[in-house]
Amino acid sequence: MRKPAWLKSPLHVGEHFKDVTTTLQQLRLHTVGQEAACPNLGECWGRGTATFMILGDVCTRVCRFCNVSTGHPSAPDEEEPHRVAEAVKALSLKYCVITSVTRDDLSDGGAANFAFTVKAIRSACNNTSIEVLIPDFDGNVNSLQKIIDAGPDVISHNVETVARLTPEVRDRRTDYDRSLFVLEQIKESNPVLTTKSGFMVGLGEIEEEILGTMQDLRNVGCDIITIGQYLQPSKECVPVIEYVHPDTFDEYRKFGEAIGFQSVASGPLVRSSYLADHYFKEVG
Ligand code: SF4
Repeated sequence: MRKPAWLKSPLHVGEHFKDVTTTLQQLRLHTVGQEAACPNLGECWGRGTATFMILGDVCTRVCRFCNVSTGHPSAPDEEEPHRVAEAVKALSLKYCVITSVTRDDLSDGGAANFAFTVKAIRSACNNTSIEVLIPDFDGNVNSLQKIIDAGPDVISHNVETVARLTPEVRDRRTDYDRSLFVLEQIKESNPVLTTKSGFMVGLGEIEEEILGTMQDLRNVGCDIITIGQYLQPSKECVPVIEYVHPDTFDEYRKFGEAIGFQSVASGPLVRSSYLADHYFKEVG
């Protein structure tokens, strides 16, 4: 299918872009924008926000929408939390997102590394807002509690797609209800902590399923939601079934606001960390 005109993003490559690239190379860090060739990379970096991918770039799961390599990841790098904090400080980031691949090989799924990273950033840069975009940790409440206790500003976990398509699109070990449980558990443990989730459209879902997913997320207290167009990252990934029109994204935004989300990012180029600082401020 040919991409429609509304998916061609303007290239924002400001002077900040080069600083970020150099700092990341020097500190041997990965950002999600680079790994996923994100269309909004220049815009994010230009705004003083960045998404760091910790715990390596090899995942233990195989989601059929994702281009990250699958295999046996290396042992966590104990110095990585400090290098992330150093980068956040060197780049004077106002907002950063910390995410990872899924690490089913680690007993806590890597929760301790998330917690160390949050604490290292807090102690190096007290004014930076921190969002963690976490895997499901197999629904392990102790792992979730480690993250909550570390005190990030936002905890995000994506449902990625509607319930019916979850077995086809996500890894077989993931589960739609478990993702809802993760978000619910965070709110139950700390009702004032901001939670966030997101999913892609264009995978073959129907409107009723999209509205149902939004309602499911609201029912577990989710505050912020992101909805964006799925784009097939490689031939091995599931195909795009539909390019959703921007007006339809706008309808989803209105519906999300009407059912009580504090902030809704809905648009063809929206990704889970898209303008994360802006949508967090809307909540604050
Ligand atoms: S869990 Fe799925 S979406 Fe996340 S990095 Fe692994 S393969 Fe990609």
